[in-house]
Amino acid sequence: MKKNITLYSIAIALGIFAAGLLFGAHFGAGSIEVAEAESAPAKASPVKPLAVQDMYAPGTEALKPDEMRVFACGTGMPNARPKQAAACFLVELGNGDKFIFDAGLGSAERISALKIPYDYLDKVFLGHLHVDHIGDLDAIWIGGSIANRQRPLRVWGPSGAKKKYGTKYMIDKLRETYTWDLGSRQGNVNTKGLQIEVHEFDYKAVNAVIYQENGVTIRTLPAIHGIDGSVSFTLEWNGLKFVFSSDTYPNNWWLKHAKGADLAIHECFATPDILTTKQKFPVGDSLNVGTQVHTSPAMFGKVMSDIKPRMAVGYHFFNDFDTLPQMTAEVRKTYDGPLSMAVDYMVWNVTKDDIRVRMTLVDEDVWPQPSITEKLPANPKERIGFSTYISDGRHVYQQVIQDIYTETNERFGTKVPTPTFDDKK
Ligand SMILES: [Zn+2]
Ligand SMILES: [Zn+2]
Repeated sequence: MKKNITLYSIAIALGIFAAGLLFGAHFGAGSIEVAEAESAPAKASPVKPLAVQDMYAPGTEALKPDEMRVFACGTGMPNARPKQAAACFLVELGNGDKFIFDAGLGSAERISALKIPYDYLDKVFLGHLHVDHIGDLDAIWIGGSIANRQRPLRVWGPSGAKKKYGTKYMIDKLRETYTWDLGSRQGNVNTKGLQIEVHEFDYKAVNAVIYQENGVTIRTLPAIHGIDGSVSFTLEWNGLKFVFSSDTYPNNWWLKHAKGADLAIHECFATPDILTTKQKFPVGDSLNVGTQVHTSPAMFGKVMSDIKPRMAVGYHFFNDFDTLPQMTAEVRKTYDGPLSMAVDYMVWNVTKDDIRVRMTLVDEDVWPQPSITEKLPANPKERIGFSTYISDGRHVYQQVIQDIYTETNERFGTKVPTPTFDDKK
């Protein structure tokens, strides 16, 4: 309602502006009256910030002790696009705790825009192991360490029907995949943040506690998606409840345990029509993927009508000017409550009295925040180094390097010794 009033005011203002233009055009041709009007002293423009900011600018707002702030760091699909990363939501609590739910491809970039020190971004909960839910785990893990996270990354995720379908297996293989990467870094950067801890839990467990620290309780629910081994999560803190489906077909566990959540995020997949016309799927595949593998918007609406959250959030579709009207119309066939159709950088401030929905203002020139503890140095003894064959190919510009060391030491008041190389080159 408030938004309508604002839009109405803008419409009136535009109308007045347009009338002014017409007025100017009417009297503009050499009229003395107009010349006098133009030379009249203009009223001074306001010099103070606006009283109300409708955007969230990272790092500029205190989080109240009883407040929860949730960011959409990925709302799209497994196929990459500039506008939307794949599944990822970040929850910040008034007690200072932060949690990442899913880590889809592209999401690490969105997380970086929030200007949060990476030491706090050390807890990731994975709903299942599709690439659009884990594709940026490596960027958060290794990139987060380079961005000054000085503690291990902790990852919670489900087991699978077989060992090889579980989260532990995936993380073990991810570590193996990055053997060269990790080998190249040891001795050059501190490796504390390059450690990764896995907490695998039973994917069949219903409403079981998988995390409980600092007044925060996170539980798992079985989900129905892909093959066995998908889960959804609930997070409860300070009388507020956040629920995140990851991907799932509507199911009884969710309907029972997500009931009455303050913020309920559930997949809301593109309609078979959109999958056919925009995604170019054959009609049979669109119907199967859109209603059997995933939850269609009308099914999403049913789910939300059943659990009645204070705010329903639909995600997992390409949210554009030409898809949103159809998606929303489908949801509205089965649900008439509060609704956010998520796009990346949407942010929800949740308290017991209010849920405020805004967009985040992004500073694309963002740099990582410093670590919250003194920066740990690398241990040069861990360095693997090069073979003689490769090392002998080095052409050392010793004087240039010497100058860089001298200038840098002068600038920062340090005494880092210049490395000495074999003088052959
Ligand atoms: Zn999936
Ligand atoms: Zn997905």
